[in-house]
Amino acid sequence: MDFNFTPEEEAFRQELRTWLQHNLPEGYDPQKFDEIDAEARFEFQRGWQKKAHAAGWVGIHWPKEYGGRGANLMEMFIFNQELNQAHAPRYANTLGLMMSGPTIIHWGAEEQKRRYLPKILSGEEIWCEGLSEPNAGSDLASLQTRAVEDGDYFVVNGQKVWTSYAHRADYIQLFVRTDPHTPKHKGISCLIVDMKTPGVTVRPLVQITGDAEFNEVFFEDVRVPRTNLLGPKDEGWKVLVTTLMHERAGIGSGLPVHRQLSELLRLSKAVELEGRPASEDPAVRQKLAQFAIECQAITYNMFRSFSKRLKGNPPGPEGSINKVVGSELNLRMAAFATELLGPYAQLTQGSPFTVDHGRWPRAALWGRLLTIGGGTSEIQRGILGDRVLGLPKG
Ligand SMILES: Cc1cc2nc3c(=O)[nH]c(=O)nc-3n(C[C@H](O)[C@H](O)[C@H](O)COP(=O)(O)OP(=O)(O)OC[C@H]3O[C@@H](n4cnc5c(N)ncnc54)[C@H](O)[C@@H]3O)c2cc1C
Repeated sequence: MDFNFTPEEEAFRQELRTWLQHNLPEGYDPQKFDEIDAEARFEFQRGWQKKAHAAGWVGIHWPKEYGGRGANLMEMFIFNQELNQAHAPRYANTLGLMMSGPTIIHWGAEEQKRRYLPKILSGEEIWCEGLSEPNAGSDLASLQTRAVEDGDYFVVNGQKVWTSYAHRADYIQLFVRTDPHTPKHKGISCLIVDMKTPGVTVRPLVQITGDAEFNEVFFEDVRVPRTNLLGPKDEGWKVLVTTLMHERAGIGSGLPVHRQLSELLRLSKAVELEGRPASEDPAVRQKLAQFAIECQAITYNMFRSFSKRLKGNPPGPEGSINKVVGSELNLRMAAFATELLGPYAQLTQGSPFTVDHGRWPRAALWGRLLTIGGGTSEIQRGILGDRVLGLPKG
């Protein structure tokens, strides 16, 4: 593979960089962002998405006919790299952009595409993903939330769990069992459900970070119009695979390891070990160098996967490598930062002695979610053992 960017790709980078230089929200300080109240943070992200959408910088990999730019893999890589380097805020409709939107593009009827896609892009309608249940997490095919046909409606009863942003969502992409009498991968369907429908109850769950960004969602006799079926009835497993593929690709390309490394380098120059900047300590330098090597390996592995896909192959199980390595590296870097900070790592926002506005203890806790959401590290290792290394089934 040629690691140089083409003149067109460099021009794309320059256009984006210039736009970011002139358009990042005024007064935005990434270091202090987490201190803002969760509601205000969300509205800020929604405003940012609206502005970026108006300039054509949201959903750039979506086809042009559905409001994207038709960006290719390399442009997506550059896009993520530039947004990370500029420390740009995230968009509000994370899951709509990463999962529901691309799934609707793939499986949706034309009318569904016209109805839902524009508002996912603009952030006017927020989406959440109803996959996991109390007894169906890693083993999603065991899901039990039931939908029974009743004339022009499906009537839904059951429960989802860990549903990120359900408390803010306008719609949920909901996976339900429509036929309980077939093997578990069959008889599943996907429904688009308006969160304001009577019978939908959202109960927030507090996470280890103290935020309440995910939820339990209960469905009691919820009537969903038949026209909201996404993809073929009883063959929703295929729809689910599309959604998961986009989730994995989205998490893999957006992992914040390079940003975390640059923050860690900054921290190591700012804190002292025995009267000298920690960055001058040989043991610390070894550790930082090792992190930098691993970050670079992740980038090259991503290029390897792009190279395969640019030749027309579908995204393969090698995506699991970056998911495992990236999420665990992210966590190790945050843990190392807390070692550098010593007792100061106990201090979160609100104390006058807090370092970096409590970024590091928060990162050490928050980083764990990346090793679980989108398929746990154990599940990813299972995939690698089976499909990449060809090991016998455990
Ligand atoms: C922050 C966060 C946000 C999330 N957001 C959403 C969301 O928006 N929508 C949604 O539907 N879900 C969401 N999830 C749920 C997430 O997808 C599940 O937590 C994940 O798939 C694991 O499922 P589980 O929690 O039921 O654990 P389980 O599947 O019960 O697993 C428990 C443990 O057993 C291990 N294990 C299970 N099966 C195997 C196996 N075959 N081999 C080896 N080890 C195994 C797991 O690795 C894990 O350590 C979110 C999770 C997190 C942490």
